[in-house]
Amino acid sequence: METKQIDVLILGGGVAGMTAAVYAARAGLSVTLLEENACGGLVNWTRVVENMPSYISIPGMELAEKMAEQVAALGVEVEEAACIDAISLTEDAKIVEADDVRYEAKAVIVATGRTPVLLEGDDCDHVHYCAICDGSTYKGKRVLVVGGGNSGFDEALALLDLGISHLTLIEAQDRFFAAATTQQALAERPNATLHISTSVQELHQQDGRLTAVTLAHGDGSTSTVECEGVFVFMGQKPSTEAFAEMLTLDEAGYIVTDDLMATSVAGVFAAGDVRPKKYRQITTALADGTVAALEAEHYVRRGGK
Ligand SMILES: Cc1cc2nc3c(=O)[nH]c(=O)nc-3n(C[C@H](O)[C@H](O)[C@H](O)COP(=O)(O)OP(=O)(O)OC[C@H]3O[C@@H](n4cnc5c(N)ncnc54)[C@H](O)[C@@H]3O)c2cc1C
Repeated sequence: METKQIDVLILGGGVAGMTAAVYAARAGLSVTLLEENACGGLVNWTRVVENMPSYISIPGMELAEKMAEQVAALGVEVEEAACIDAISLTEDAKIVEADDVRYEAKAVIVATGRTPVLLEGDDCDHVHYCAICDGSTYKGKRVLVVGGGNSGFDEALALLDLGISHLTLIEAQDRFFAAATTQQALAERPNATLHISTSVQELHQQDGRLTAVTLAHGDGSTSTVECEGVFVFMGQKPSTEAFAEMLTLDEAGYIVTDDLMATSVAGVFAAGDVRPKKYRQITTALADGTVAALEAEHYVRRGGK
């Protein structure tokens, strides 16, 4: 196995990780960014971003591409689709093994963000977690949306705009949680049916295709709706399983940091949605990435102290 010694290793190539990469590279440090999927993270799932200062409106994927270009132009070694086999983070040694390379880093920035809560029994190719990515396949077809928060309603509207023929949206609790204006916008669509106190009981498949879903309602009754695709927006959980044994996590699994993004292990910093915080936005992730990289730089320059 090849060994690479670097100043800063960044885990996660969302906007927090890419911002950290920009700052660390501009500080003259050697930087590697490992992304298990594609750089951009959640921003890739966002149809249009309209609150990123400098762009009145920009498709999420385009914003992610622009950031990735800047990271590459600064000479950061970026490994996408990285398969991480082992992580060991202590004050004395920070080692990550991925794709037959052993990275020994002076400082590590964890920016692994969050992943969607999965639908129980999700073993079906027709269950999705991103309307923008997968919605166009269902043009002219019927779909079910699970989740009555902002994401569920926003993505339901996006699906209808893509030409879905009919959409049923369900929420397990006894009210919807999306903003009132978004709720109204969806309620006004003639081809949308909304249910509260309702959850998925069974997915019906035939020849590898989803044909219908049985729903369980709060009054004990059930109903079966025809549908060919299910889109799930039941919230997100932090991507921190790999760090549970080495970093302090809060009760919800987020990596605990101080205001300077320092974790419980000296030289390991965390940035973005993976931290406990009230507002998870692109701009707050950028701010975290900035602070984490500047602190990592200080840590490296002080010789790991
Ligand atoms: C549908 C939706 C719409 C949104 N719209 C907006 C908006 O309009 N404006 C706004 O400001 N905010 C918006 N947000 C919030 C915003 O997208 C996030 O707060 C922000 O992108 C978080 O960035 P991040 O880098 O912390 O995490 P993420 O974007 O989650 O990136 C984390 C990255 O780490 C990778 N990763 C995970 N585990 C590992 C591992 N073990 N090793 C390597 N890589 C790993 C993941 O693949 C991912 O690419 C939206 C969120 C959602 C879900």
